[in-house]
Amino acid sequence: MLDISPDTAPPQPVRLADYRPPAFFIDTVDLAFELGAADTRVKSRLGIRRNPAAAEHGAALHLDGEALELVSLALDGEPLGANRYQLQPEGRLTLADVPDAFTLDVETRIAPQSNTALSGLYTSGGNFCTQCEPEGFRRITYFIDRPDVMARYTTTITADKQRYPVLLANGNPVARGDNDARRHWAKWVDPHPKPSYLFALVAGDLLAVEDRFTTRSGKEVALAIWVRRGDEDKCGHAMASLKKAMRWDEEVFGLEYDLDVFNIVAVSDFNMGAMENKGLNIFNTRYVLAKPETATDTDYQNIESVIAHEYFHNWTGNRVTCRDWFQLSLKEGLTVFRDQEFAADQGSRAVKRIGDVRTLRAMQFPEDDGPLAHPVRPDSYIRIDNFYTPTVYNKGAELVRMIHTLLGREGFRRGMDLYIRRHDNQAVTIEDFVAAMQDANGVDLGQFKRWYEQAGTPEITVEDRWDKTTKSYELSIAQRVPPTPGQAAKLPMPIPLAIGLLGPDGAELPTRLEEEAEHREGTRVVALTEASQCFRFVDLPAPPVPSLLRGFSAPVKLQEIPLERLKFLAINDPEPFARWEAGQQVATRALLDAIRARRSGAAPHPGRCRPRPGLCRRGSGTAQRDISRRPARGRRCRRDPRRPRGRAGRGRLRIGDGVRLDLCDARRCRSISDR
Ligand SMILES: [Zn+2]
Repeated sequence: MLDISPDTAPPQPVRLADYRPPAFFIDTVDLAFELGAADTRVKSRLGIRRNPAAAEHGAALHLDGEALELVSLALDGEPLGANRYQLQPEGRLTLADVPDAFTLDVETRIAPQSNTALSGLYTSGGNFCTQCEPEGFRRITYFIDRPDVMARYTTTITADKQRYPVLLANGNPVARGDNDARRHWAKWVDPHPKPSYLFALVAGDLLAVEDRFTTRSGKEVALAIWVRRGDEDKCGHAMASLKKAMRWDEEVFGLEYDLDVFNIVAVSDFNMGAMENKGLNIFNTRYVLAKPETATDTDYQNIESVIAHEYFHNWTGNRVTCRDWFQLSLKEGLTVFRDQEFAADQGSRAVKRIGDVRTLRAMQFPEDDGPLAHPVRPDSYIRIDNFYTPTVYNKGAELVRMIHTLLGREGFRRGMDLYIRRHDNQAVTIEDFVAAMQDANGVDLGQFKRWYEQAGTPEITVEDRWDKTTKSYELSIAQRVPPTPGQAAKLPMPIPLAIGLLGPDGAELPTRLEEEAEHREGTRVVALTEASQCFRFVDLPAPPVPSLLRGFSAPVKLQEIPLERLKFLAINDPEPFARWEAGQQVATRALLDAIRARRSGAAPHPGRCRPRPGLCRRGSGTAQRDISRRPARGRRCRRDPRRPRGRAGRGRLRIGDGVRLDLCDARRCRSISDR
């Protein structure tokens, strides 16, 4: 016998194509919490109205709920009996007969201390804490729990005064007081409409490290990082990072903070790493706490980056939010791009870019190559929790970076200004973002949407030809997007390819495409929009060496470049990412050759080095001695007397047997290693 009961039926996917506007909006939410670890009462007063644009007129009201106990319901003050609503087995609450605009009072009971899902309201180390993205708010009270329902929230928290002296929620604190000798309360008002996934509440025995920030327009903001007793001395770097991020967003994007307070809470049991709840960011302690005795440089960098990321969401995610969860990369891709740019401006742009590309290749490329490959904007999901992926975050950021590359810094800023101006306090789509970029710059980015719809990492092959009679150089570039699950055939992607041409002496050549009137200096971006294209450069003094995909201008795989060319680029390319990339490839090929030789029995015994005059005296000393020639941070390279005059001295690394790689000259070294 086959059991096909509902419990064992496969879950049905949610599809982007099935999106419909909500049948109702909720404009205001008044929440009152009576906190108890085993038994918390939540009273919610919702100001609800029908959406005039909804497809179905007279539709029933459906409220999401999960693991809730319904205590009472009242519509416009009139208590509703059990015959006026339906509770579905999965927790959904349905009211079939409701007016066009009304107030609904809902009282629920929840048990935070037994909430081991850590979604909704739960206890952590004796404190109360929330996590509502993506669908945790429905575990607090009945609600239309989708991001395109944006409401203004007022939150009143009542709790035991001794055990929970600190009561925090979104927005600004407006009042507080004592109920009696044992219990107290605090009221918070968030003036900005927000989706339910940004709701937050924290109550507990916490201490604040406080500071202040004055915005560009003169508004005073009280900053606080709330931690457990004993952690107060580990918040300095997080606070400094927050203030830097606030200033940077004003200077680079003209975006100011919009509340009177900004609170960060660090808790140890926090699944998400960090969460951008409006005015009340909640972090795992590892992204807040650091002191020199116990934290590494990487810890410090991660804290700066994650603090900034969550802060930047205040505009890209909170003020302008996602219409539905298919648009997750709208906020995450854009905000990762913003935190990457912030970090690049704080230290070395080249080192940051190299690190970000290494992360992308290590985490996202395998995803794109495997059975879990999915587009940056997926078109269906079973559970959205599974889509917080490197593709949505890191590849999503690369897509935003490509738009930045195509439009330039000023063009991108124009696009951001228009995006914020058009969509402030709205829940929008990736198309809306791309349209703002397009409209602000008078360009057509229609083809660009393929990057959001097609999974897979494009593979680029390059052939070139030098014509010595016409002094012209042709670059023939082809792309192939491999098939991925559910997407057998792909259309060509629009790929911005940042390139430069180097002369035989390693100097950067001015370049002119045949259709152009004048030469251009330095890196230029050509747009590959077809499956294959030819770019013809004219009026060149000598056959050039191409430096391709500078700055990793697109998330693609550049197929085999000849070894001699890579060695030349590793020595000469003035663009730091491309030079690093060439060096990596030369070293990788040398190592692979050495492994192959060793396997075939042709290589010397490991740990021993074939003596060569002037190179190696004993064992592994060669590598140590030669690496030591690399310039230390802040120190100039030693000049190499064997190199021709007029060139800066270079460090050298000898790899394996007979492979020699010049690393960099002093000027270029500083640009990479100084932080
Ligand atoms: Zn984020």
